[in-house]
Amino acid sequence: MQKIVEMCDLKRQTAKIRSEIDASINESIESTAFIKGAKVAEFEKNAAAYIGTKHCISVGNGTDALYIALMMLNLAPGSEVITPSFTFVATAEAILRAGLKPVFVDVSDSSFNIEADAFEAAITPDTKAAIIVHLFGQSAEMDSIMKVAKRHSVDIIEDFCQSFGAAYDVDGKMKKAGSIGKIGCTSFFPSKNLGCFGDGGAIFTDDDTIADNARAFANHGMRVKYTYDSVGVNSRLDAMQAGILNVKMKYVDSYLEARRKAASTYRKMLSEVDGIIVPSEKEGCLHTYNQFTIRVKDGKRDELKAFLEENGIPSMIYYPYPIHQQKAYLESPHRIAGNLCNTEKLCKEVLSLPMHTELEEGIIETITSKIKRFFE
Ligand SMILES: *Cc1c(COP(=O)(O)O)cnc(C)c1O
Repeated sequence: MQKIVEMCDLKRQTAKIRSEIDASINESIESTAFIKGAKVAEFEKNAAAYIGTKHCISVGNGTDALYIALMMLNLAPGSEVITPSFTFVATAEAILRAGLKPVFVDVSDSSFNIEADAFEAAITPDTKAAIIVHLFGQSAEMDSIMKVAKRHSVDIIEDFCQSFGAAYDVDGKMKKAGSIGKIGCTSFFPSKNLGCFGDGGAIFTDDDTIADNARAFANHGMRVKYTYDSVGVNSRLDAMQAGILNVKMKYVDSYLEARRKAASTYRKMLSEVDGIIVPSEKEGCLHTYNQFTIRVKDGKRDELKAFLEENGIPSMIYYPYPIHQQKAYLESPHRIAGNLCNTEKLCKEVLSLPMHTELEEGIIETITSKIKRFFE
């Protein structure tokens, strides 16, 4: 059957700001400033102010942001970096690419994120850092996680690729995800909370030295033209993408509000359905719902997904397999801390429903009524 709704509707979102986007792209073409330049500098300034850090260094994508952030920690090869196995692969991939060893920790089955107790239990004398992922738009419990990190001198990198604009109450103050740990990394992949029209990413930090080194590292390790003090990479945000992001930054709060509203409608309409568990919102947390991910009980997830598809409703499984069970990662250095029961269970239960900024109440009503019909 023909799809009656998009999983992520970028067409309608873009249509509303098309003239501004076109003007910005035209400026780039006219100026021929395609690499670096004013649009990139302006975006970095805007983004740092929004997230609440001293520095923003734009890079080629979110995966590079994580890799570069890890390289800035100057860890001994093989040092342990704690991370979830229930996440997009880029997190573990960056750790191994940086010559470090991922330590997989279980996540909570209600927040989908690493929690402080499991994090602390996984720490050994070899543990030097952790990449805490804020999955599906919700920040992990950063207040207690930062206390554990301080106690054990573990550096925290936040992966807020899915949670641009999310916030968490840290010592009585709402702080944006990406500004709480030592370094924050995000992605501007089109479907993220703030997406460009291609690949893009950024690193956020208050640390002047890390910022200076990351900026050089992302540009071939170059500070002065054709002078190299370190071996770097080429990872830059295109000026055209920065221009698009400058336009979209003006609307990002309204985008997040639209996601929160859609989530609240879903929650209301699905509250009586017995066969599923709707996502919980942790206290002291501003959830941004990059995804609205339900858990389907009694092994019915794949059946429900097929039923929705027959009715023109797309859904996605984020993520079908834990990273620690994938061939490439089984064969690479790693450690599993405790057990990963929730991770393995969630991979069999989760189902992400259509979620974007253009989701009206009527279509959510249609989607949820089909879900109710399935369970009748
Ligand atoms: C999207 C994503 C990344 C990687 O971002 P890219 O820009 O696609 O490289 C990393 N971590 C998480 C959790 C993500 O969702």
